[in-house]
Amino acid sequence: MTYLLCNHCHERHEGHPDVKKTSDAAQCFICQGALAKLPELVAQALASSSHLQYSSYCVQTTFPRPLMVREEQILDGEPLGLPMVIKNQANRLAMEEIEKRIKAPFKPDGELVLKIDFWHGKGSALSAPLFIFGHYVKKSREWCQHDWACMACRGKGCPQCHFHKQEYPSIEAALRSVFCSAFGASDGFLHASGREDVDVMMLNTGRPFVFEMRHPTKRTADLHALAAEIASKFPLEVLGLKFVPSTWPTIVCTSHFDKHYRAWVEADRPLTDEDWALIKASLPIRVKQQTPVRVLRRRADLTRPRSVYSIKPITLSPNEWVLDINAEAGTYIKELIHGDQGRTLPSFTSLLGTPCRCKQLDVIGIDDAFLDSLAN
Ligand SMILES: [Zn+2]
Ligand SMILES: [Zn+2]
Repeated sequence: MTYLLCNHCHERHEGHPDVKKTSDAAQCFICQGALAKLPELVAQALASSSHLQYSSYCVQTTFPRPLMVREEQILDGEPLGLPMVIKNQANRLAMEEIEKRIKAPFKPDGELVLKIDFWHGKGSALSAPLFIFGHYVKKSREWCQHDWACMACRGKGCPQCHFHKQEYPSIEAALRSVFCSAFGASDGFLHASGREDVDVMMLNTGRPFVFEMRHPTKRTADLHALAAEIASKFPLEVLGLKFVPSTWPTIVCTSHFDKHYRAWVEADRPLTDEDWALIKASLPIRVKQQTPVRVLRRRADLTRPRSVYSIKPITLSPNEWVLDINAEAGTYIKELIHGDQGRTLPSFTSLLGTPCRCKQLDVIGIDDAFLDSLAN
């Protein structure tokens, strides 16, 4: 049997004993004229990208399954040697076509994604996601980190949430409102290194995050102006904003950093100098923390060893201690103080032999200098 192949398909199977070139691409046994439509599909893709800002491009090609099956059929009779892969050839041909028409260079993670779909005979374009790295400061005890649908109406809107649909205002929604409109993006997501509770402020140099935007039509903006807008509208600040590659959400979300806290501690009886001496003598504290009761619904029930490196007194009065605590990544500070019904051991409660509580807590520092050095 002889297979008729178009110029492009013939190029891949040159040397095959049973193939013959045809000038009528529609007759091609493998692609049935699909590859000949490439210039048309590229033109279509570029036409649909006219409203997008980009400084590099990449290509994605898709083929009909039956075409790949016919390609396999020919490969079975192929003599020795490495046959050219159809996807590589199509990508190369597409790049030749694209570079006749635009000046932006090719990059494997290019900002403009040109999709050449040989299956549906369609060319389209989309803008690759855009990532901004920074640190956020949260100066409120009523804000949460991520979207949190109202638990009464499950996000439909009801009197209890005043039709805001959310349980609490969130950093994610605030950043989305500013960033997505500035970059003409369709949606946005916050990726952060850990989180603080709603009633905990995140102060000083802030917590590292990456904000991801989907389908941005613009890829440049005055980041200082956006930071100023956020600070003027919300009890938030975003520091050191900069554009980063798509690998950053993973880098930031999987990094764990030691932290500094300020904690307000009270007990069921007046606190004494002897109490403080007891705490001081136990430093550094190696605690065993079983997953706190309050997060058991979200996290596996495990016991983790954690280190509390240092505790510095700010005020020591009989009715309240204000302390700066430096602890290992992942230490639950509220539980370190109240003991979580014995699930955290030792705790202030167990060490002092009286129920203790964490009245208020702030994160005042995160030892994440390594991320900044990476970003520079
Ligand atoms: Zn062909
Ligand atoms: Zn509601």
